[in-house]
Amino acid sequence: MKDIEEGKKKGANNSALKKRYIKYLALGIVLVPVILCIALLIRVGVLEKYIKDNLAINQKVSDVSSGEYASNNTNTVNNVGEVGLVETSPSTYEEDNTYQEYNGIVKVCITFDDGPSANTDAILDILDDYGIKATFFVNGHEDYKDELVRIAEEGHTIGMHSYSHSYRTVYKNLDSFADDLYEIQSYIKDTTGVTSTIYRFPGGSSNHVSNVAMEDCIDYLHAKGIEYYDWNASGNDAVVGGASVNTIVNNVMNQVAACKDDTIIILLHDTGDKKTTVEALPIIIEKIADMSNVAFVPITEDVKPVHHIESNN
Ligand SMILES: [Zn+2]
Repeated sequence: MKDIEEGKKKGANNSALKKRYIKYLALGIVLVPVILCIALLIRVGVLEKYIKDNLAINQKVSDVSSGEYASNNTNTVNNVGEVGLVETSPSTYEEDNTYQEYNGIVKVCITFDDGPSANTDAILDILDDYGIKATFFVNGHEDYKDELVRIAEEGHTIGMHSYSHSYRTVYKNLDSFADDLYEIQSYIKDTTGVTSTIYRFPGGSSNHVSNVAMEDCIDYLHAKGIEYYDWNASGNDAVVGGASVNTIVNNVMNQVAACKDDTIIILLHDTGDKKTTVEALPIIIEKIADMSNVAFVPITEDVKPVHHIESNN
């Protein structure tokens, strides 16, 4: 009798255990996919943000001061070469006829940012071979003073591209922007005797890295009698890892062909690591020279600026 009762008890215990086991199993079957889904959604969200950040960088900034895709951090600070930023060409350009001297001749301005560098002499030799004057938007590279002097002596235009080329410094606040501007203008004047009155913003006027409203920087420049020049064709030669000669040539020529403006401002870079830019230069010059009604000119007051953004003032 006792055995039967114990057997019943055991049976009841077993069935309770079985029920509990089934309950946990069912819970597991429901919970595991839910947890996996949540983890997946979080991952997708992170990836989406990453893609959006990169797209924003690639579409909005070109000075390439640069075309680089490496960074998803829009606050990346670079001293030289704008690593992390893409200076691509914007979709809209100024349509203002103030500077019209357009008699069917398209002015082509070749511009070099970020120099002088170990490549400056090679670039100057090529320009000399073709009898072309260009524009160099320089930084305060005090190791390359001789090259800066040569740029001036050979009749090219020297523009300012900030002394430090550090986004964190240049765009910290308007005072910091003004200090850096004064520094590069004084450095160029002291080194070459030239008072530069043209400026190219690191990252271009449409950059998304500045802590200062770019309109305020523009107003500050204009109050000082300085004009800023963006670009409407770019070699995108500042991409991370470098661009091939063919890519640089194609980038420039496709944008030159598509440009409806009577002034074409081409962005290239003069930095020691960009040998392919030097190799692409004669090819670009010859292809453009083969077009009809074009003239290579350095940027001067007579050249209508290309602006990616305007100030309202
Ligand atoms: Zn630059």
